[in-house]
Amino acid sequence: MKIAIYPGSFDPITLGHLNLIKRASNTFDHVIVAIMVNSNKKPLFTFEERLRQVKTVVAKFPNVEVDSFAGLVAEYAKSKSACVVVRGLRAMSDFERECQMALINKKINPDLETFFLAADEKYMYLSSSAVKELARFGASLLDFAPREISDEIHEKVKNEQEVTRHGQRSQ
Ligand code: ADP
Repeated sequence: MKIAIYPGSFDPITLGHLNLIKRASNTFDHVIVAIMVNSNKKPLFTFEERLRQVKTVVAKFPNVEVDSFAGLVAEYAKSKSACVVVRGLRAMSDFERECQMALINKKINPDLETFFLAADEKYMYLSSSAVKELARFGASLLDFAPREISDEIHEKVKNEQEVTRHGQRSQ
């Protein structure tokens, strides 16, 4: 059985991520979407929120599982008997970082291959950061984020803005 892992921060999961998950699930026997808990970035959503969101959104794919991990992708892959890491490539700017990661992962776990999927042209420009920015300006997320979690994203950025405003007032 060919098991692939798709690691990421998913803060939050976007239609670009979902497109990759769908294509990976058509290609591999089993796909594990793995949420990184030790990312350097300060996330908008807690780890528990992201886990719930991703689980909700991928429930329709029978061969997709959602998990989380801390530590190295290469070692996590080994623990899951995965032979492939799936990553997405949007612009050239993704390429350098992704290539470096693929080489490091290969060094740590020589049995692990990284498969790069080119972003669908519809989602080439799409990132979790763009989704958060759009939500901060109250824009519709219909073309960018899964329908099931759009309201939650709007709600979260609204709370974030209120906390910031409150902080500024009390200074
Ligand atoms: P990370 O913090 O590891 O970059 P992300 O959740 O931002 O985590 O992204 C996970 C993976 O999904 C990365 O390989 C990234 O390039 C890819 N990705 C993100 N957005 C898109 C998109 N719109 N289309 C295709 N791939 C994407």
